[in-house]
Amino acid sequence: MHAPKSPRTPSTGHCIFCDLIQGAAEVSICYEDATAIAFLDIQPVNPGHVLVVPREHYEVLQDIPRDVGLHLYEVATRLIPVVQVAAGATDMNIVVNSGAAAGQNVMHYHIHLIPRREGDGFDVSLPFPGSVMPNRQQLDGMAARIGSMLRDPLKN
Ligand code: 5GP
Ligand code: ZN
Repeated sequence: MHAPKSPRTPSTGHCIFCDLIQGAAEVSICYEDATAIAFLDIQPVNPGHVLVVPREHYEVLQDIPRDVGLHLYEVATRLIPVVQVAAGATDMNIVVNSGAAAGQNVMHYHIHLIPRREGDGFDVSLPFPGSVMPNRQQLDGMAARIGSMLRDPLKN
């Protein structure tokens, strides 16, 4: 079963993460295998901010083949407790900005592992302060729509 694709214009041009993966620029790697690489973010939220990245260039979540996506998740899951201890952090945010409107700046898919500690000043503010609470009918309607599209991706 394939996930439905949403319309999107692929970005063009140069990719800094492809450069790093090909050894064209300095990078501090903490894990690598044939499919995935993890390195330290050059502008970390906190020390130990790691990016888990596929070696191949995929832009956003829906471009990632299922096996690669599962592998990246597995690598992230292995790294999370280690990074947390190494960074001396108490907690972690796992963040994926998938697409420009979602805040993705480097258009080579990556998972942020962000070590967190009390009072560090970073915030992924949820629930969104500007949120308008939907009623139960609206929530049920959306849940039914998602469930139906999962069962039959061609229907929407
Ligand atoms: P995004 O906004 O795309 O989710 O996150 C991109 C991340 O890549 C940012 O946190 C940024 O600091 C990091 N980044 C951008 N350029 C480089 C680079 O050249 N090297 C490394 N290690 N990280 C980078
Ligand atoms: Zn790339």
